[in-house]
Amino acid sequence: MKNTRPSISFTPAPLAFKDQELAAAQDMVRACMQCGTCTASCPNAFAMDLAPRQMWRMLLFGLTQEVLESRTFWLCSACYSCTLRCPRGLPLTAAMATLKRLAAAEGDSANRKKALFYQEFMHNVEQNGRIQEMGFMCHYFLAMHDPLLPLEYTPLGLKLLAKGKLRLGGRGQRGRLGPLFAKVRSMEGAS
Ligand code: SF4
Ligand code: SF4
Repeated sequence: MKNTRPSISFTPAPLAFKDQELAAAQDMVRACMQCGTCTASCPNAFAMDLAPRQMWRMLLFGLTQEVLESRTFWLCSACYSCTLRCPRGLPLTAAMATLKRLAAAEGDSANRKKALFYQEFMHNVEQNGRIQEMGFMCHYFLAMHDPLLPLEYTPLGLKLLAKGKLRLGGRGQRGRLGPLFAKVRSMEGAS
């Protein structure tokens, strides 16, 4: 099967690339009027350490390091709600994707870990039509090449299993979302 993982590079990138990506992200949100609609629309905002509205402001104020250290953009699952609802018509999902590329280009282990988690999550959803937790985590552990990592997740896994939130088998509709992902990729100029 064709490898459809998002193309995120985990190697340190030249400064020029980082400057270019940062400028692109800032341009995308320059017209933000701080209304907060993006935060209110985001299904993942509850788990973010910076609200999207707050993060755009920090980005424009040049607080790049603080933004790149946050987990906000990694938690963006590209649902496009904020992009559709922003009264300024700003490409917020694309700005989130730009921040992911920028953070991954730092090439450090913390960002690599987050980037791989995101990559495997999206790949799993694309392949199965929904997240299949066991398959997703197995692929993530393999990609990380860290034999001790599964131990870190064991308590959480057991808790989820006890609450019936962790499916051991698959119930998704395999391949159903493939055309949708392909369409978005082509609209974003990624293929
Ligand atoms: S919805 Fe748009 S204008 Fe409102 S805070 Fe978010 S980015 Fe800014
Ligand atoms: S595209 Fe990302 S940031 Fe925007 S609402 Fe969806 S999950 Fe939240």
